[in-house]
Amino acid sequence: MQNKWRLAKAGFDYDVVAVFGSQSTGKSTLLNRLFGTRFDVMSEAQRQQTTRGIWTDRGTGGMPVLIMDVEGTDGRERGEHQDFERKSALFSLAVAEVVIVNMWENMVGLYNGANMGLLKTVMEVNLQLFSGGEPKKTLLYFVIRDHVSAAPLESLAATLTKDLARIWASLSRPPGTESATLDSYFDLKFASLPHKLLQPADFEREAMGLRRQFTDAGSSGYVFKAGYKRRVPADGFPHYASSVWEKVMSNKDLDLPTQQELLAQFRCDEIAAVALEPFREALVPVRLRVQEGKVVEDLGAVAQAARTQALEAFVAQAARYHSGVYGKKRAGLVATLDSELHAVFLNQVKNASAQAAEAFSRDAARAIEEDNGGGFMEIVEKVRCGVMARFDRAVDGLMFEGAPWSFAPEKRQLDGALDAVTVELREREVDRIVERTKRLAKDAMGDAVAEHLAAGEEDMWRLVMDAFDSEASDADERLAKQLAAAGLIGGEQRLVVERRVHAALWEDVLVGLLRDEVSDAMVLLKLRAAVEDRFRYDAQGLPRVWTPSDDIDAQFAVARESARALLPRLSRVNVESSAKLRLARTFFPAGYEYERTLVLIAPARQRDLAKRFAREADALYLEAKRSMVTTHGK
Ligand code: GDP
Ligand code: MG
Repeated sequence: MQNKWRLAKAGFDYDVVAVFGSQSTGKSTLLNRLFGTRFDVMSEAQRQQTTRGIWTDRGTGGMPVLIMDVEGTDGRERGEHQDFERKSALFSLAVAEVVIVNMWENMVGLYNGANMGLLKTVMEVNLQLFSGGEPKKTLLYFVIRDHVSAAPLESLAATLTKDLARIWASLSRPPGTESATLDSYFDLKFASLPHKLLQPADFEREAMGLRRQFTDAGSSGYVFKAGYKRRVPADGFPHYASSVWEKVMSNKDLDLPTQQELLAQFRCDEIAAVALEPFREALVPVRLRVQEGKVVEDLGAVAQAARTQALEAFVAQAARYHSGVYGKKRAGLVATLDSELHAVFLNQVKNASAQAAEAFSRDAARAIEEDNGGGFMEIVEKVRCGVMARFDRAVDGLMFEGAPWSFAPEKRQLDGALDAVTVELREREVDRIVERTKRLAKDAMGDAVAEHLAAGEEDMWRLVMDAFDSEASDADERLAKQLAAAGLIGGEQRLVVERRVHAALWEDVLVGLLRDEVSDAMVLLKLRAAVEDRFRYDAQGLPRVWTPSDDIDAQFAVARESARALLPRLSRVNVESSAKLRLARTFFPAGYEYERTLVLIAPARQRDLAKRFAREADALYLEAKRSMVTTHGK
């Protein structure tokens, strides 16, 4: 149907006309004159019935009019034909805004004729169709044929109007329409034509005049008025007409508002499906790239353009349909468009988020590596800002005006991920700080510790502890600055690091240095040096030369005892010797068992070392004895 009439794009700019009237009253002939149609006309020679059923055609020469040539009654057959008459009237009035009633002049005033039966049917059917909603007016255009009598058209019209009023009064009208008048449903219009055979030239001329009323919107008698329109968009007409026809034929109740809604649903769905096609096609390539994990730069723009285009295409056609249905279908289409977009967008946001987290880890680590004095937190924050700004830009492109989505949860998630990366980076930074602190402390204390232990004086531990204490407070000060730069200014985390550093300063640095100083070789060296100091050198530090008068044994015993006393002193760190005792009270974190670190030489090793020292000392003693024998022993 749609193609045949080429009206699909006409919107509401088309009209529908139906013609009623008894058989062989020249209906088809008239239509062909008015609209240039080619309805079959009964041949004069054969006199057989021509038009059967309802025939449709459209006007020629671009006339946007659909014309229905309805099979007429012959007024003799009843029953089956009456049923058809009613059905064709129902269908015609459901679609046609102008109904031409065609009759001979000599039928006017025959109140009981076939025409009156037809008119009664038309009125009843019209009430059935339109009494429910807003009354929709129909133009009944009476065309009186073979007007040969002297009676003017006005009097013929008056007779017909009177008859119509009588019919109207006799109708049993549905509740609510009892007081309705004929003219709230119908406009009446009358014309007559000369006898076609007797006055052929006049007939043709006047038929042409009538034609202008249907074709020339500027002519005074123009028949199509906006109020008559059934408001079925042209693209939906074929569906509407066939579903109305189906209802009529199956004797179901025909209710036009429902038909309009059904049509709207059907057509809005069709239009939406068509509108979705290019939209989906436009999304295919970008969706593919997003699925590959990419962040598609122009996704927002592409998507928005496709969405707008689809909506506009839908609105352009669908807005003509039942507004309630249209509104719902439009919302449905928007929801479909948006949910398909959202799925792609969500993927894109996830990609952007993954890229942001990756870039942050990589760039922040590199910036810390290349740190040129910015300080950990400052560096990390700067990188984070850059990364977040890029993420925000990617997300902003996906936020349309009125878009029903937000990517706040994804942003929060990314924030969390960046927090976790920051924690990791900070841990690494803290490791570096701790290592640096240890290195500096080791460098600072190494010599002093070695010196104090080498001297082995009674107050050796006090000196060591004081040295440690002073370095520890320097280290604390440096640490505070570095931790502040790393964003660890206070709180539990800071405390943890401080404890870690303190334990490291003590155990790794000081005890480490001390352990080096009390290796077997070092201890033996110290003991030997101590015994030698006393035994081989005198109080003035001069090498002794033993004489026979010297009491080598006594001297040796004293020297060896004083050296031996060194061993237990070296074996255990004497913390209490620190004047300040800050260590035990505040330096060591609660729960840190520093006592276990105080033992430098376990008792077994002490015994072993004592034995080895005794042998070395004996060697010294023998050497001294021997030297005296060689010098004085003859
Ligand atoms: P339809 O059955 O109502 O469609 O009538 P047709 O158009 O087929 O015409 C039936 C017969 O009437 C044909 O032979 C026509 O030539 C003839 N006819 C058509 N118009 C007129 C008219 O105005 N006056 C007369 N007398 N005959 C007509
Ligand atoms: Mg005909």
